[in-house]
Amino acid sequence: MAMIIDGKKISQQIKEELKEKVALQKAKGKTGALAVVQVGADPASSVYVRNKKNACAFIGIESLAYELPEETSEEELLSLIAELNGKEKVKGILVQLPLPAHINEDKVIQAISPEKDVDGFHPQSVGAMVIGEKGFLSCTPAGIIQLLKRSDIEICGKNCVIIGRSNIVGKPMALLMLRENATVTITHSKTQNLAEVCKQADILVVAMGKPQFIGAEYVKEGAVVIDVGIHRDADNKLCGDVKYGEVEPIASAITPVPGGVGPMTIAMLMNNCVQSIEEG
Ligand code: NAP
Repeated sequence: MAMIIDGKKISQQIKEELKEKVALQKAKGKTGALAVVQVGADPASSVYVRNKKNACAFIGIESLAYELPEETSEEELLSLIAELNGKEKVKGILVQLPLPAHINEDKVIQAISPEKDVDGFHPQSVGAMVIGEKGFLSCTPAGIIQLLKRSDIEICGKNCVIIGRSNIVGKPMALLMLRENATVTITHSKTQNLAEVCKQADILVVAMGKPQFIGAEYVKEGAVVIDVGIHRDADNKLCGDVKYGEVEPIASAITPVPGGVGPMTIAMLMNNCVQSIEEG
């Protein structure tokens, strides 16, 4: 029986801590707002945006909503970002991804001032993370580190295998694990003998975007399994990249979907906003 890593509970603890920090900041006259920009009305994005606004309200920071129509041009979006970059009150800018196909996401991410890049996606934030300098950390991987630490799971010296090398999860996850002194292996769709490589992992982070792909044959007895995937199964129920029922009995600890990694991403976004307000 694995320990179930309760992301809902841990994220709530983090938000409670941030709420106290925000109150202290306010007492010192330090305030700021998060600008949340959504282009189009993709239902999944709308849920994420709503959750982010609710988290801001909970910890006590203002959120400014910019809901733009699907047909917004790249130029219009870039001009809004330039305006938000210049607004003193705005301490964080979040552009909900994915953007409609006619808008270049990289261009938009790079237009956000690194001082307000609370998603941690700007190349300057990524570069700072690589060399261990101060900057905003990518929220999902930073949330996974918190999940492990707050569950008293040792990272230092452990073999960590990551499935996936995306810019938002796999790559930053590898760097943060390395920072925590894990021995890190990154795998991807061209990796040979994936199951064999994964079986070496003390900590297996699965971010491949393939519903219920990873079964018992990929997991060493007693490994810690972190499931980043989010999907809907045939019954429209949320599920991850891991076959939970099969893996849970052999893992020592595992994140459920929902209620594992997902809630941590928003908690770490709030953490970045509070950090930005602090740095003023
Ligand atoms: P992504 O950009 O699609 O990247 C998937 C990665 O998995 C790629 O590097 C790909 O390899 C690798 N991969 C795909 N099939 C594979 C296979 N058969 N064997 C080995 N590697 C394989 O996805 P992402 O943005 O990183 O997201 C991954 C999952 O996490 C998705 O389900 C997403 O919805 C979820 N997610 C959750 C949160 C959260 O807050 N919980 C946040 C972000 C993402 P190649 O590079 O070779 O193509």
